[in-house]
Amino acid sequence: MHGIHHIWTHPHIMHSRLHGRVHHMKLHPRQLCSRSSHVDEAQLRDKHFACTGCGICCTGSGNVWCSKGELDAIIQQRDSGMSFEQGVGEYCNVDAMRARNIDLHASEWFILKNAPGTDQCIFLNAENNHCMVYGARPLQCSTYPWWPELVESDKAWQHEAYTVCEGIVVMENSVDAVDRLDVIRETGAEFDTMEDKTRKLESFCTYLEDFPY
Ligand code: SF4
Repeated sequence: MHGIHHIWTHPHIMHSRLHGRVHHMKLHPRQLCSRSSHVDEAQLRDKHFACTGCGICCTGSGNVWCSKGELDAIIQQRDSGMSFEQGVGEYCNVDAMRARNIDLHASEWFILKNAPGTDQCIFLNAENNHCMVYGARPLQCSTYPWWPELVESDKAWQHEAYTVCEGIVVMENSVDAVDRLDVIRETGAEFDTMEDKTRKLESFCTYLEDFPY
């Protein structure tokens, strides 16, 4: 269960979050880069996002993937005395990787574990919804929700807002937008600028060009 947060008092957001818990799929890079990353400026300009830190995007089915370098950075942050192989055993979902015929010793990509008995990323602190490896979190996480498949389609963007992320504001729905803007204001979250959006989208697509799965 997530830590209780004052924004639960907002009925629209409560609905959104509960809904999100049921349907959200954690990030899946193959879906995200299955099409061209060519997104025009208008598609970014009309979309707005400020992370409230609710932690829902770190919960649900699906996988959090990280590159070998990212996993190494996470291991170093958590315990610099831990070997890479120990880190794989400690933090990666080796069963899910084996089920995909991924060679744990040769792979350049890894799937992170969930916390035991939960559908939450192993690095989500359930008490405060903070990421415990924030400074070393995978690009998959740090670029959300500026992914091609969400940005290219207004429908996908809205679906993500209503099923997962309370920080996405769908301006066309003024009732919901007012509630969300209130929540965002209360948390002090800042909206991504055009520069942020572009940088995240581009870096995520570049990063995943070689993603093999
Ligand atoms: S990105 Fe969205 S779902 Fe994830 S923590 Fe921020 S507001 Fe919540």
